[in-house]
Amino acid sequence: MQEERNWAGNYRYSAEELFEPERVEQLQEWVAKRHRIKALGSRHSFNSIADTPGSLVSLKKMSRVLELDRTRGTVTVEGGIRYGELASYLHANQYALHNLASLPHITIAGACATGTHGSGDRNGNLATAVRSVEIVTSSGEAVVYTRGEQPEADGAMVSLGALGVVSKLTLDIVPSFDISQRLFENIALSQLESHFDDVFSSAYSVSLFTDWKSEHFNQVWLKCLVGEEDPFAEDEFYGATRATVPLHPVPGISAEPCSEQLGKRGPWHERLPHFRMEFTPSAGEELQSEYFVPRSQAYAALETIYKLREQFAPHLYTSEVRSIAADPLWMSPSYDRDSVGIHFTWKPHGEAVERVLPLIEAALEPYEARPHWAKLFAMAPERLKSLYEKRLDFQKLAASCDPQGKFRNSFLERYLW
Ligand SMILES: Cc1cc2nc3c(=O)[nH]c(=O)nc-3n(C[C@H](O)[C@H](O)[C@H](O)COP(=O)(O)OP(=O)(O)OC[C@H]3O[C@@H](n4cnc5c(N)ncnc54)[C@H](O)[C@@H]3O)c2cc1C
Repeated sequence: MQEERNWAGNYRYSAEELFEPERVEQLQEWVAKRHRIKALGSRHSFNSIADTPGSLVSLKKMSRVLELDRTRGTVTVEGGIRYGELASYLHANQYALHNLASLPHITIAGACATGTHGSGDRNGNLATAVRSVEIVTSSGEAVVYTRGEQPEADGAMVSLGALGVVSKLTLDIVPSFDISQRLFENIALSQLESHFDDVFSSAYSVSLFTDWKSEHFNQVWLKCLVGEEDPFAEDEFYGATRATVPLHPVPGISAEPCSEQLGKRGPWHERLPHFRMEFTPSAGEELQSEYFVPRSQAYAALETIYKLREQFAPHLYTSEVRSIAADPLWMSPSYDRDSVGIHFTWKPHGEAVERVLPLIEAALEPYEARPHWAKLFAMAPERLKSLYEKRLDFQKLAASCDPQGKFRNSFLERYLW
């Protein structure tokens, strides 16, 4: 196999082959014959979670929409489709998904497998929209888990790639909606002490960005539902001032790749991601980390990070703070608690990032911070395991789908078993 790397280029897969089936039967036959396998999505994860010493399989040739069921309010897709592709289809049919991540280029299966999220204090992560998944398990058999029908279904939606290859997903859909995106500049960290919930409940999706170079968050991104009363017609938002030109989350960079701002209304799929689908970054000169803390302790956690800023800020492009509703999905970082994600987009300073992550993690330890599965972290396996009370149930589910451990890799062995 030619050298294959992840999107950021910081990780080189060690697999011997990469298979791209066109039909589920081909996939089933191939899976049954291999010893070590891992499914690969759009390669946007930053660590070794998608790697295997054996064979990689990509479903990029299996990316069709299979069925739109208006009565049940669902859409069924093949396992290789990306959010951007499905979003255009749904919008053309007057439907939407409840939420999207910051970029639309990622696959639905890969994003859900790692608990990927957008923002919104009432919005669960993207996997909460999964009604059912079809998984090709180690024998080659396709097994379906449906929310509410089997108790283990709650373990199958954020699957970390450990159960098999997700070949089909059925997702909840909602009627299409419009969003207008408004940005404000320079909100003081101190405003969040008494107004954290006010700020995060003030729009359908809210993100704060900071480079931690001052006591202010550089930007507030409010993605407001058109039709809801607009409380932000004012020029001020908790002391922040309305942005009068489009902004990129990283100060000083052109806003051209960003989704439309300045309050211009538009369809959900062109406003919920921060970046446009037609802007296709080939490779990212960046690394990422993210930690999830209980929403009730988010301000204290942010203050703690602020005190460390001199040590990590030189290596940072920007940090983003988002809100994610609690969910019942066993391996989800927002399992059973309303959460706030504190995200770091790092410059490609690998060694420095490795040095500062333990400092950040030590500071966040009192808040039981769970790291994003697909991003960089340094946490000791025993500590990480202790943060997931359903881990042993997940192990049992994985063993029933994959008794031989075909879908295990060193990442999963380290953090789950
Ligand atoms: C620029 C950028 C922006 C990002 N923005 C966000 C964001 O806003 N919010 C957020 O939470 N995260 C974000 N991420 C992280 C990203 O969502 C995750 O890395 C996600 O896993 C990417 O999906 P993927 O298709 O690239 O998966 P991959 O990296 O290819 O794989 C990730 C995992 O999914 C598994 N997997 C993939 N496909 C399948 C399948 N068909 N069946 C079974 N398992 C499968 C793999 O085995 C692996 O375990 C971002 C990453 C980047 C690079």
